[in-house]
Amino acid sequence: MRLSRFIQINTRYGKQQVRLLLAQGRVCVAGQVTTEAGLEVDRFVRVELDGELLQESQSHYLMLNKPAGVVSATEHPDHPTVIDLLPEGLRQGIHLAGRLDLKTTGLVLLTNDGNWSRRVTQPESRIAKVYRVTTRDTVAAEAEEVFHRGIYFRYEDITTRAAQLERIDCYNSRLTIHEGRYHQVKRMFGYFDNEVTALHRESIGEIMLDPDLAPGEFRSLTAAEVALF
Ligand code: URA
Repeated sequence: MRLSRFIQINTRYGKQQVRLLLAQGRVCVAGQVTTEAGLEVDRFVRVELDGELLQESQSHYLMLNKPAGVVSATEHPDHPTVIDLLPEGLRQGIHLAGRLDLKTTGLVLLTNDGNWSRRVTQPESRIAKVYRVTTRDTVAAEAEEVFHRGIYFRYEDITTRAAQLERIDCYNSRLTIHEGRYHQVKRMFGYFDNEVTALHRESIGEIMLDPDLAPGEFRSLTAAEVALF
């Protein structure tokens, strides 16, 4: 619904008065003064008039199937972002609960609830993230053992937590990791001088990417999914 209509419905003001009070900068949408009568307002956004609340914002929680070539960020000068894939009305205050590299595809979680996203991303939580990995070369014979033992990352001065590798075929495997270091999966395969040519996140904890979501599509999480974190 247009902002001007929303104000009319939710106050005693008529059309002309609404136009005037918008021009006077008395309306805030998502914490920002707006004069735009045609701004689309949905049930997710906070709207205030003269500092009085007309509508409280709602928490929302989404899963999205990230396509390759889209950046896991709120803004980027050169590439479309995950946020650009959402309708305008859903973008305010929304952020990612964990990132994927530019070419990586699959599950990303988005929310405007900072406490929830902190629970998803906090390093101590050891939440399992499952990736489908395609590599340039055959996966090394000792990869399961080495990944389980952990690999030393000099830059962070840490050893990765025990990870589980499941082979699908010579070039495809499924890797479960329990942290989210920078380029972690690529660096783990890099230990064997093997290049990751495709990477797809299938799940975070018990939230699985919905197979009905085509690349670029999203849906709200169910109450049961939200309650997992
Ligand atoms: N590990 C990577 O190397 N890249 C990702 O996008 C996610 C995990």
